[in-house]
Amino acid sequence: MPDLVPFLEVPDLLVETGGDGLNLCFGCGTCTGLCPWNLVRSFNVRLLIRTAQLGLEPEDTADVWRCATCGYCVANCPREVPIIDVMRSMRAMTGESGSHPQTIRAMLASQGQNGNPWAGEAEARNGWACELEMPESGQADDWMFYACCTQCYDPETRRSAVAQVRVLRAGGVKMWISPLESVCCGCSVRETGSVELTERMGRSNVDRFKKSGARRILTASPHCYNAFIKDYPAWGGEYEVRHYTQVMHELLQSGQLVPKREVKRTVTYHDPCYLGRHNGIYDEPRACIRAVPGVELVEMPRNREESLCCQGGGGQIFMDAPADERFAKLRVQEALDAGAEVLLTACPYCNSMFRDSIKILDAEDRLKVMDIAELVWESLA
Ligand code: SF4
Ligand code: SF4
Repeated sequence: MPDLVPFLEVPDLLVETGGDGLNLCFGCGTCTGLCPWNLVRSFNVRLLIRTAQLGLEPEDTADVWRCATCGYCVANCPREVPIIDVMRSMRAMTGESGSHPQTIRAMLASQGQNGNPWAGEAEARNGWACELEMPESGQADDWMFYACCTQCYDPETRRSAVAQVRVLRAGGVKMWISPLESVCCGCSVRETGSVELTERMGRSNVDRFKKSGARRILTASPHCYNAFIKDYPAWGGEYEVRHYTQVMHELLQSGQLVPKREVKRTVTYHDPCYLGRHNGIYDEPRACIRAVPGVELVEMPRNREESLCCQGGGGQIFMDAPADERFAKLRVQEALDAGAEVLLTACPYCNSMFRDSIKILDAEDRLKVMDIAELVWESLA
């Protein structure tokens, strides 16, 4: 008698890949009403959840790949449906039948081959820090600084990592650079539902970090921060993890950092989804900005818990949405309408998404994107 292979229905598959909880949905449609996609095109989140409940594959599998994992719907769902987990499970399922968008397939191939999503050479990972002469190890209480792959391989975003290290060092923070053999934190791989590759990359990092003696990790990106605190403990990676804005804030509070030079600029701050909604860090970045003399901070109407996603998360940064389907373009317009000359953020993805949209809007002479560390460094240098 042949071995019997259980045939799993779609809802069973969802449960198996972590998307259980979808049955809590009672179809109110709040998620669809709030999802930022509906500011640029139609996207029925509720229908997608309902389709999965019924055990059907969505009619248009492209919809499964739209979610930017911004968390706005999750934060407002009256039944606390883990909508992002459901989306991730649906991606895992459709991915199994080979329906990954081409750019996502290329990203995953690069992750498997080079350990980063940008097809960058693994040996060039730490090239961004060449002018900083960072040590490759340190004392047990020192921090290991982990730059985002986007900073490692995108020459423009790289500036933000350099400024972060300079500011933290100016405040007396001792740190070393993450080992050259480190790979991507795995956040964007995880969001595609590629469970096996995510775990392989995570375990590889845990091993490398252990060899370098890391107990405390400073991250440049909110996505790495989120991965290290939420995913890595399952693979034996228990660390004290901080996003750089938290440590910078402590240094400013204690007087170890004192920005002195006036920077006369009107700025606005964009809350990155993985710093704000996913991890509740809203005040520290703003306090860092306010510590710079001369700066006027104006808020955009959508801020803090209501912040509009830049569309970089959930693998969207690799999807290259058409110009008229970019939330980042709307966000740039909001910054301009608020009267800002500088759009500040604390995430390499947001940084990159906004720079693209500023070019699309031909607003380069009116608005500049900066990381908070670049602003603080301007006042210290
Ligand atoms: S907001 Fe929650 S309960 Fe309402 S339709 Fe969306 S997932 Fe279902
Ligand atoms: S997480 Fe954000 S992008 Fe994804 S469905 Fe919810 S609101 Fe839309």
